[in-house]
This record gives sequence, C-alpha cells and structure tokens, in this order.
Amino acid sequence: MKTQDYIDLENKYVAPNYNPLDVVIEKGKGAWVWDVEGKKYLDFLAAYSALNQGYCNPDIFEAMVKQAKQVTLTSRAFRNNQLPQLAKKLCEMLDYEMMLPMNSGAEAVETALKVTRKYGYVKKGISHYDAEIIAMGNNFHGRTISIISFSTEDDYRKAFGPFTPGFKTVPYGDLEALKNAITPNTAGILLEPVQGEAGVIFPPENYLKTISDLCKEKDILLITDEIQSGLGRTGKMLASEWEGVKADIVCLGKALGAGYYPVSAIVSSKKILSLFNPGEHGSTFGGNPLGCAVALAALEVLEKDKLPQRALKLGEHLMSKLSVLKNNSLVKDIRGKGLWAAVELKPEAGGARRFCTKLMERGVLVKDTHHNTIRIAPVLTISQEDLDFGIDKIIKVVEEG
Ligand SMILES: *Cc1c(COP(=O)(O)O)cnc(C)c1O
Repeated sequence: MKTQDYIDLENKYVAPNYNPLDVVIEKGKGAWVWDVEGKKYLDFLAAYSALNQGYCNPDIFEAMVKQAKQVTLTSRAFRNNQLPQLAKKLCEMLDYEMMLPMNSGAEAVETALKVTRKYGYVKKGISHYDAEIIAMGNNFHGRTISIISFSTEDDYRKAFGPFTPGFKTVPYGDLEALKNAITPNTAGILLEPVQGEAGVIFPPENYLKTISDLCKEKDILLITDEIQSGLGRTGKMLASEWEGVKADIVCLGKALGAGYYPVSAIVSSKKILSLFNPGEHGSTFGGNPLGCAVALAALEVLEKDKLPQRALKLGEHLMSKLSVLKNNSLVKDIRGKGLWAAVELKPEAGGARRFCTKLMERGVLVKDTHHNTIRIAPVLTISQEDLDFGIDKIIKVVEEG
C-alpha cells in the first residue's frame, strides 16, 4: 500500500477528530522518522514532547521487552515489583514524597483536581460542595468533560456541555485577575508553567513564584501541569524550577512513557496524597508493571543522558539561530526556552499550516499551533547537526514567504 491508500483507509474508518499532515510514518529512530515510501523526515514535534528521549530509544526498548517477558498487568488488586521502584525514583528525582500512577495526561489532571477538592473539604473546611479551582485562559489540560469545562477554547467545548461546575478561569499571566478570583472557597490553582498548546506562551517573570507565595499564604494548592513542559523540555527537569517554585501537586505524562507506553502520574506530599482512601480513586492499568518499567527507564535515560542540560545548551543555539528571523516582515514574535520554541507569524502570513506543509515536503515535520505559530520541539536527544538541518529549513521557508 502507498501513502494515499493508508490515508483513504484512515479517513474511511477513523473518526475525523484530528487534521494530521499527510505523512504516513512507518518507522522512527532518534530524531528521524521514515514514511511508507521510505522518505526520511526530521521530526520537530516529538509527539508534543512525549518523545523527549527520542523515537525508539534503545535503553527503554530493552527495559520494556525485559518486563514484557515477566509480567505486564496485575491490576492493583495485587502488588507488583515495578511500581514501588518507579515511585521511589520519581519522588527522589523531583523531591516529592508520594506519587499516584495513572495512564493519560488527562487522567493525571483529573486526579489532581479530585484530591484538591478533597483537600478543600477535609483540610481547609470548605463546605460541601463549594470548592473552587481556578484555571487559566487558553489552558490545555486534556479532553475529559470536567477538563473541557474550564477550557476557553470554543472548539473544545461548544458541542459538549453541560459542564462540570466548580471552576473559574482568569487570563494567563494576569496576577490581579487571579487575586480577584480567589475566595475562601478556592481550593486550588491549576496552570501550565509554559502553555504549550496555546502556542508556547511564557508568562511574565516571577508570575509562578508570586502565585506560589500567594497559595502558601492562603492555603490554596498550587497544581502545575508539567505534562508537556516537564521532564527536560525547557532545560530543567521541571519548568517551574526556573522560578524556584515547588508546586503542591505536579501532573506528569507524555515523556514519562517515552513514547513506548502511556504513563502518567501526579507527585505531591504525603499530607495531600494520603487523603485518598482505598476505593476513592483508581485505574485498571495505572501502575501496571510494564508501564512502570518503561517509565523507570524513561527517567533513567533523562538523567543518564543529561537531557535537560542538553535541551538547555541546544536551546541557546536554537534561539540564536532563529534570531535571524526577528526582523522578517512576516514574523510577529520568536520565543523559546530549552528545546521548545515558537515562531509566531503575523496574520498576513496566511497561517502557519502552509509553512508546515512546505516543510514536510522538504523533510521536516513541524506542527502549526493556534493558527499562526510554528512550534519547534525536537526530541531532546537530537544532535546539533540535525537541529541545524531543521532550523535552516524553517528559516528558509519563512524567508521565502
Ligand atoms: C498533552 C497534555 C495533556 C493531556 O494529556 P493526554 O495524555 O493527551 O490526556 C494535559 N496537559 C498538557 C499540558 C498537555 O500537553
């Protein structure tokens, strides 16, 4: 079968809830993928940062196969020997006391929301069911009905009400609006340290630190969604480290499974996570030994291969190269941190999509984000030479207009 045959088949049998570029990938290795016709592409999306450790990372492959031969699922009706090892590693690496394993990012966020509500009732004395959680404008936290209930993106919501109550949103980066939204019923504040899906948006300096101080003062739980920003992407293990902030609850996913397996988790304190009693929350696959073995290996690779440090160093190179586009008449803004950057185009550029299609034809896969932004997020194992190959293509395509 050729490219078009697969596309036709997918369009016939798969619900059209995505609008993918028409490349049909058959194989991936490191920073590169190959399509069904054998054409090679440099990947600059890394599955929205789920592939920080690179496509088919050999160390993680080995751990996965080893575990697949042992036992893959026990359910948590029984214990397994992998979950405690992952939990210890994750907590020690990120300096937290406890973790709770789930599968997808949305489930990690849901878990954080549930425990935050319970904290509000049990620890803060908010009356049932008045707990409020404040989220930010242009957030992305996943696709469940509760999560889209506080989305500000019309497409994510409009056909899917009624919505879950108990959430408020304030504009991202606006501390005054946030302060005004806080009431005695505020149990938690949920935010992304960097908003990926919104177009790689960085908040003003000290924003996160100020919120963290505010949360401590008012006994509000700070929940950071580091599903995309965490695990090395910005040049630190967690993006909140840039401001020296330690959130009460951190949501992790994506690169925790290194593209091999969906694994998510929240990490927090014993005080908070021990609020969950047996039976109050769970997941059949959450904490399964195969996922845990993969996640443990994924974390070990981040450490052993110093991927955050690598992202920091290569990120500086990326930004200095992209700066040649600063004065380009089609470019509105260039921003980035670590191996995570955005080239935001002016409306007159006619959208980022056509640039992404052109780049695909030239062997570089990037994704348009929020209409006008080209998001750059290669795997963190990328070589400088490969990074240059991709950046040069992007610069050329924008310069051609
Ligand atoms: C991808 C993502 C999620 C949702 O993760 P899924 O695994 O798709 O459910 C949540 N928050 C952020 C910031 C994300 O990037």
